[in-house]
Amino acid sequence: MMLTKSTREALDRTHAWAKRSVKQHKKTERNDYKQFLFGIVQGAQHKVLREESARTISAMDFDGIAIGGESIGYNMEATKEILSWVMPLIPEDKPHYTMGVGYSPTDFFDVVEHGVDMFDCVAPTRIARNGALYVSPEVKEHDKKYTITITRAEYREDKNPIDPSCTCHTCKNYSRAYIHHLFRAGEMLGYRLATIHNVHFLLQLMRDMRNAIKEDKFLEMKKKWM
Ligand SMILES: [Zn+2]
Repeated sequence: MMLTKSTREALDRTHAWAKRSVKQHKKTERNDYKQFLFGIVQGAQHKVLREESARTISAMDFDGIAIGGESIGYNMEATKEILSWVMPLIPEDKPHYTMGVGYSPTDFFDVVEHGVDMFDCVAPTRIARNGALYVSPEVKEHDKKYTITITRAEYREDKNPIDPSCTCHTCKNYSRAYIHHLFRAGEMLGYRLATIHNVHFLLQLMRDMRNAIKEDKFLEMKKKWM
């Protein structure tokens, strides 16, 4: 990727805004309501800009550090490369947040391994509404994103829950066949039950991941998934 004049200017603008934000935030801070301000590391896919941005943002008085940019979360190979450049430059005692990560369960392993604590992504609810439902590695019919497509004919009479190991409201009360029927009929409840499952599934995955880190079993857990 070419480092253009406009990329340079955009990064300088980001840093100028960051400086103004910190200043303004301090001025308006309230004792009864703490609001956290995060700085965002930018710099596209240029190592030199990313490193400069990581240093500049880390030197400012932010509560947490985010890593942003359009490739984060969309291109996981680029995401991992960018994290390998910037994470060693970011203070360890502040929360780290990758903006836009969380399409597939495997994406979390990639960024958590680099020391990231927080994520956000529209994909889990969007793909739920398209009938793509997360399952654990034990459910053999998953694709490479660890989803099954509930609208497929093979689930028409499947009395199992989406994922037998899932403890969500949907899996405890409804079968794949019923959710398949709701999707085929265009019933709103189908999208809702699917969304409940996908969100619950990822929250549980993160709980399990936190426990695995505490017990020093993160890599063991990752191996099971990847
Ligand atoms: Zn579930």
